[in-house]
Amino acid sequence: MAWLLLFCLGQPPGAVAQEVHPAMLFHDVQVLAHDNMQGRKTGTEGNRQARAYIVRRLKEIGLQGFAPNYSHTFNYPQGEGVNLVAYIKGQSEKYIVVSAHYDHLGVQEGQVFNGADDNASGVAAALQLAIVLNQQSSLRYSWLFVFFDAEEAGLLGAWAFVNKPPVPLKNIVLNLNFDMLSRSSRHELYVCGTAHYPKLRPLVERCVPPPGLRIAFGHDTPKLGTQDWTNASDHYAFHQKGIPFLYFGVEDHPDYHRPTDDYEKIDRDFYLKVVKYLAQLALLIDKQL
Ligand SMILES: [Zn+2]
Repeated sequence: MAWLLLFCLGQPPGAVAQEVHPAMLFHDVQVLAHDNMQGRKTGTEGNRQARAYIVRRLKEIGLQGFAPNYSHTFNYPQGEGVNLVAYIKGQSEKYIVVSAHYDHLGVQEGQVFNGADDNASGVAAALQLAIVLNQQSSLRYSWLFVFFDAEEAGLLGAWAFVNKPPVPLKNIVLNLNFDMLSRSSRHELYVCGTAHYPKLRPLVERCVPPPGLRIAFGHDTPKLGTQDWTNASDHYAFHQKGIPFLYFGVEDHPDYHRPTDDYEKIDRDFYLKVVKYLAQLALLIDKQL
């Protein structure tokens, strides 16, 4: 316990902080948010290229999959989407799902919506957690890494996943969803979900963020109206199935859902702190949930 506390507070030599690879993290965001990816809209060539890139990274990291190229297709009225699902086997059959959507808004009126913060930042963070968790000699839980398609069209990938899960739904104990992690003028990361699942709050509070990063609770009660983020991203599909979630994200910013959500706009110092924090929290959750 003392060790764990030290681990979260002080980052001793060789701890998780060193296992997050900043250059790789930023590179992943830069690639996914490049004009080449054409805004990653579901059903487009740019979306397919983004997916191919994530598949390549998952293979490099060494994660296993349930299907060739980790690819799980689903149909919706406008076409076909593809979720990517990879896993790390732990001691238990119980799963924790780390999720991030990789699709975005595509090209509109000749302008590429690159979606660096939304949500190349979440995808790259999830890949870093995959690296960190895969390096552990043993994990109590098994971990799924899910890269959702068609979030922007209405959480369609997430609905497809919970309606046809690759592991029994009853074995999924928690969803950690990442959507927009890389910039905040107030240096604030929101953790949303503990109002619905109060037992999770002490666990989150046990992990102290690095100086310069503030963890804020909220955005998860109906009285907030549109500022209630309970249904704002893929975690909502898990919540609807009774699976506890924690959603991590920043407040909307001037480039939110605009063609100016570019790699150059992310706050690399803040974003790196967020990813290190999330990696520490994931390890704490594996040990203490
Ligand atoms: Zn998003």
